Amino acid sequence: MLYFYNNFRIVPPEVHSKLIQAINLHTEAEGLLTCCSSAVSNQTTIAREVETSGIGLHTAVPSRMRLVPAPADTGIVFRRVDLDNFEIEAHGRNVARVSYATSLMKKGVLLSTTEHLLAALYSCGVDNVYVDIDAIELPILDGSSQPFIEMLEQAGIRRLRRRRRYLKVLRPLEIADGDRRVGIYPASEFRVQCMVDYAHPAIGRQEIELVVNRQTFSEMLARARTFGFLEEVARLRAVDLIRGGSLDNAIVLTRDGIMNGELRFPDEFGRHKTLDLIGDLALVGRPLLARVVAHKAGHALHTQLVSRLLADPSLWIETTDDAPELEPAAAVISSAAAQAAP
Ligand SMILES: [Zn+2]
Repeated sequence: MLYFYNNFRIVPPEVHSKLIQAINLHTEAEGLLTCCSSAVSNQTTIAREVETSGIGLHTAVPSRMRLVPAPADTGIVFRRVDLDNFEIEAHGRNVARVSYATSLMKKGVLLSTTEHLLAALYSCGVDNVYVDIDAIELPILDGSSQPFIEMLEQAGIRRLRRRRRYLKVLRPLEIADGDRRVGIYPASEFRVQCMVDYAHPAIGRQEIELVVNRQTFSEMLARARTFGFLEEVARLRAVDLIRGGSLDNAIVLTRDGIMNGELRFPDEFGRHKTLDLIGDLALVGRPLLARVVAHKAGHALHTQLVSRLLADPSLWIETTDDAPELEPAAAVISSAAAQAAP
């Protein structure tokens, strides 16, 4: 059975339509743009600055993070304001160590846990933005991308004059590591399929598939939180990971249950892994026209895929051809957990 989602299942319709309206209201045509149907083919930035603050999941270091509008062809660029505005582009060439989070590094300057913000920016079609941050790790907030979606709602999205350039995949690329694998294939839209399988009674096998855009991401994935296993906490802390982790910013799994109450979705784990995948794919540096399939993968495989894709230009072309507009109703999600629900 396929599980069809609509607005009502995820957020109340009035909240959802307010969110979409708010983003649309702030969409301002720049210069000579005359036709709103061309919106998808032009680059965007945010309309105004927005800010948040919080502690990092792994370092527990507090940080202040500000999103700042950026001109066309800037891409998503982090600026370490505590280090003379040192710039680190959100691009595969800057991927550093990757284990429980994705970190970027350039000339020895590190920035950790970029994936939840990047997933929100990438899915919402924000091509250009400066992310000013005064510490080594992005704030984890509630462990999901929802706070970043709310920031973008507040900031609004501004259309720029320059055409958007997509990276269109022409030939498949697959990477495997034991029974974990990830592949990217030609497609006329950006679609992801993500499967997780944990031998834990609260998780099991969960599979998510969707065409990624602002609406599907906001409805299906943004609220899914990161998660961790209680029995791993001591080991991870011993190696300086999850020092900022708490019941406020992660789902904590005990041997046979969940420590912190209700899940936001029955298959929240699969959804969060899908969110992580999208956040890592953002490191392609351009919107993708491709289908990505991940099977028990993680940050290491995701970022390897990005690096190997970028390293082989025979696999793709850059194009300004519009991605086809998709009806939100076409968004379909299937999940083992949902299928098991009554
Ligand atoms: Zn995550």
